[in-house]
Amino acid sequence: MKKEKTLLIIKPDGVERSLIGQIIKRHERVGLKLVALKFLVPTVEMIESHYTVDPEWLRKVGQKTIDGYRAKNILPPSEDPVENGKNVLRRLTKYMKSGPVVAMVWQGAHSVGIVRKIVGGTEPLNSDVGTIRGDFVTDSYIISGADDRAVRNVVHASGSVEEAEKEIKLWFGSKEILNYRLIQEEVLYDVNLDGILE
Ligand code: GDP
Ligand code: MG
Repeated sequence: MKKEKTLLIIKPDGVERSLIGQIIKRHERVGLKLVALKFLVPTVEMIESHYTVDPEWLRKVGQKTIDGYRAKNILPPSEDPVENGKNVLRRLTKYMKSGPVVAMVWQGAHSVGIVRKIVGGTEPLNSDVGTIRGDFVTDSYIISGADDRAVRNVVHASGSVEEAEKEIKLWFGSKEILNYRLIQEEVLYDVNLDGILE
């Protein structure tokens, strides 16, 4: 559990907004360890594989979209969850290939949950203040949907340990994930805290 890994991607809007440093800083300061990092423009194939590592994702995100429209008393574009999911994926693909992204693997105790907490809820309109999505964007499903584009929420973070394992394999080769000792880990995880006093 102390060595749990998660995938974090700074999406093209995060790079264009010059937020790379601030986003990395928020994960460093909580005590997580950066074990892999790359800067690239993802291909359509990579983006589609990334969002479909969970074969149920298209249906789930499509159903969530339908529920969102219904909650606002607006007719959804389609009654079929998979159709709506494909529409979300089409917009996401266009968004994610529009410029460079920073892909990273962060390691540490409960890293999946901790990074999700730092990143905040999916829709910036409702993301908590203090989170990346809550602090840096004003976007919403209503506005992005009306413009037929993906919601610009700055970052991606794995949603579960299982998802993280699959996503990390997709973005990084095993040799690109580094094993090294970070001095602060001794304080974060050491049982007795011995070796501090001289
Ligand atoms: P995340 O893990 O918080 O990024 O959220 P999901 O895994 O559920 O969805 C992945 C991405 O799909 C999000 O970052 C959004 O860009 C988009 N998305 C998710 N849910 C919705 C939705 O209900 N409506 C719209 N328009 N886009 C969505
Ligand atoms: Mg997700």
